[in-house]
Amino acid sequence: MIVGNLEGIIAKKKSGWASQNHRGDIFKDLKELTKNLNIDWLLCMSNNHSGDFGYCKFKHTWDLAIENEIEIFGPRKRPCFPDGAYLNQKNDKFSEFLSKINIVSGTMWRNHSKTCNYISLYEWKNSYFNEKKFNILYPHWHYENEDYVREGIQENCSELMKYGDDSYEKKPWDLVFGHHPHVPQAITNIESESDEIPNKLLAYSGGNFTSGVWRDKHNHGLIMKCEIGTWIKDANRLAVGEVQWSYIRNKFNRWKFWRKNRTKEIIIDIEQNNKKSYFIIRKRILYGVYISLLIALILAVILLFFNFQIDIGRIFINLGVFQIIFLVYIAIMFKRRRYRKINNNIGLKKEVFSNSSLPSSARNIE
Ligand SMILES: [Zn+2]
Repeated sequence: MIVGNLEGIIAKKKSGWASQNHRGDIFKDLKELTKNLNIDWLLCMSNNHSGDFGYCKFKHTWDLAIENEIEIFGPRKRPCFPDGAYLNQKNDKFSEFLSKINIVSGTMWRNHSKTCNYISLYEWKNSYFNEKKFNILYPHWHYENEDYVREGIQENCSELMKYGDDSYEKKPWDLVFGHHPHVPQAITNIESESDEIPNKLLAYSGGNFTSGVWRDKHNHGLIMKCEIGTWIKDANRLAVGEVQWSYIRNKFNRWKFWRKNRTKEIIIDIEQNNKKSYFIIRKRILYGVYISLLIALILAVILLFFNFQIDIGRIFINLGVFQIIFLVYIAIMFKRRRYRKINNNIGLKKEVFSNSSLPSSARNIE
């Protein structure tokens, strides 16, 4: 099963500048990707863009997904997956395994909080927790464009998975995979403090798998493959098994003249996988330098054209003013993006979890 966040609604036109619409064909395209594989799709519709077009279009998107045999969770009527209806209808070995799992959605943010009352909210997550199951939280949370996870968030998340975020209810999640920041954030191991509880897995943000925005920062993300199986120390309990993950990147030709002809290709980002950090600011600074040189050149040409003689002094004054503006921009960017830096200490490394007994193929053969 592939789980993803569907940020936006199927609609022909945007409803406002910040609204997010998708082509109706995207469900078909997703199915096409996995047509020869026995894989189901599960998409989350609880995010800040779910209410961009109102309930009718939201419901239409949900219906269209069902028509294409894509499972949806995140509507207030279906905050968790799998539900009884799905399990009864499927009734095979995989659904038998799925019946031990509870995947819960919930969003911290809504762009239309007054009208969008038909999706599951992050603050309700404890009411969807199921003590008898392996609980996965799939939240739409935290802050956009921050590579580095704020210290407060790190502490809260660790608490959430060790004890639950409400000390009276004690509902600790087994696996958490977050989305919304648009940039990939750390995947980390929440080490257990007791022998009776397995280690847990926390991915702060998957970044963007793909998006309709053609800017650099919106075209990076990560994919994670996670095995869940019987815990080696307790056959009645499920735990996280081996975890594999990779950075991904959208390759695109942004200069294509006809907008509709532009396509994106989602690729495994080997270059980034080999690096220990994820840092794109340096590239931006380089762009800034190139642009400032280009502007200086254009200024020189304009001055040459109007004055018929090159006024070197004026060019340098203009260039200097532009450089000051550029440096102020960089300073603001660094201040605002204080968290756009890398912290390798919280687990941005390829790590394998080994606290689960399944699914080691050798063991299954025995
Ligand atoms: Zn979002």
